[in-house]
Parts: sequence; C-alpha cells; structure tokens
Amino acid sequence: MLSGCAWQQRDFRVLGAEVIAGGRARMARKMRVGCLSRTLQVGDLRVEILRKPINHCYLRVCPPEGRVRASVPLRMDETAVRQLITERAGWIRCQRARLQARPPAVINQWLSGESHRFQGQVFEFELWERSGSAEVVKQGSKIQLGIRPNATIKQREAAMNEWYRTELKRVLPGLISRWQTTVGEVVSDWGVKRMKTRWGSCNPRARRIWLNLDLIKHPPESLEYVVVHEMIHLLERSHNARFYALMDRYLPDWRLRRDHLNDFPGRLASR
Ligand SMILES: [Zn+2]
Repeated sequence: MLSGCAWQQRDFRVLGAEVIAGGRARMARKMRVGCLSRTLQVGDLRVEILRKPINHCYLRVCPPEGRVRASVPLRMDETAVRQLITERAGWIRCQRARLQARPPAVINQWLSGESHRFQGQVFEFELWERSGSAEVVKQGSKIQLGIRPNATIKQREAAMNEWYRTELKRVLPGLISRWQTTVGEVVSDWGVKRMKTRWGSCNPRARRIWLNLDLIKHPPESLEYVVVHEMIHLLERSHNARFYALMDRYLPDWRLRRDHLNDFPGRLASR
C-alpha cells in the first residue's frame, strides 16, 4: 500500500456543464499557478497530471467528454501515480458513464413542445397568446405560459422564472419551519436567487439562507436536502466531521439525495 496519499473524491457538484469541486479542491485550484503539468497514459486512460505543493491526490473527471485530471504532490513518483490511477480506474469509468448518460445541455427557447421540469417531473411546455400580463398555468402534464405574442425568449424565460420563484417561495416556509423544529435552530431570513455554482448558502451570523431558484425543478427530496444542509450550518459553519455527523443524524440518506441532485438533468432537449 502507498502511504501518505489518499484520493479525495468528495463533494463534486455537477451544475449544468460544470463540475465544481469542494473546498479542498478549490484550494488546490488556486495553487495551479506554477504547477507542473504532463499527460500520462495508464492502460487505456489518458490522465493529465498536475504536480502541486499539496499533501493529497485529487482526481477529477471533467465534463463534457470525461477528461481525467489528477493533482498530485510535487514529490510523488510516477510509479505511485500510475498505481493510484490503476486502482481508481473503475471509479473513473463509472464517472465517465454518468457524464455520458446526461443529456446535452440545450438552450431552451420556451416554445410549445419543449420539455421542462418542475419538482422532479417532466412537463410539456405550451405557449399561448395572451394580452396583458403573463400567466402560467400548470395543468395535468402541461405547463402553459400565456404571454403577449411578440414576447422575446428572454421575456418568456423571465416570466417562467418568476413563476418558478413564486412556486419555490410557496413551499419553502413550511419546509424551513418543519426543520427549525427538528434542528432546534431559527432561520431569521431566507431568500431565493439564481446561482450558477451553488445550490444554497448560509450566513450563520445573520442566520440567513439563500436557495438556488433551480431547486424547484428538482424533486422535493433534493430541495429538502439543500435546506437541511444550509440549516445545519447554523450549528456548524464548516464542512467538518461534526457537520457530516449532524447531517447523518438529521437526514441519514443525505448522500443519496445529494447524488440524485447532482446527477439530475437541469434541462431537457426539446422534443
Ligand atoms: Zn455547506
């Protein structure tokens, strides 16, 4: 066995076409300046090796095509690097298969016939002409947007986001209040906003949490996971052992929910 080097594979979030690593890997990314890079062929895997002043190894499978990048300590010898990649080959293939199973990101035009998600379910989108202010109606398997005929894509999208925001704000008070009772902590303020790289955030001092607008497109269990995650930060600021122990205590299946959230396609191709 190799000592002093353990692969860190935690907290990889997939948002749209990006993979964003957790705190430790973010730290490593900052240190990329001045690091040495080369490509290593290990069996059928081509791996980009970045040597950095770090103590652990980090392995990433990057979208869209599944390029593999390993960050390793400066002095780790090549045999050890090869051995670690060989050991993790199964994990790399698994991550690549997951990436390939994701539908390609498409630009929604908010036109009739497109598919859009709401609370984890797929709805057929229908556009109809309406004078006056825009209106969204969810009926059966359809989400219908009534808007004036000359509305642009941006205006249609804005009308839909407004509706998504209203719907998310409708479910959040009950959810937060239930978890306040369970966790025994009070959220003083909460809000919804569009975020590109995070599902939520928490300011423990102000006891304020922010939630990503896109969460309303995901199943309710995923939304609940993010709410609980942010509320646990009221008890523990950092993502340390205590934080994860609290998550395990209050929401034992949180890892499953997190993986489901990160694997879930945010957007679907139009039909
Ligand atoms: Zn957190």
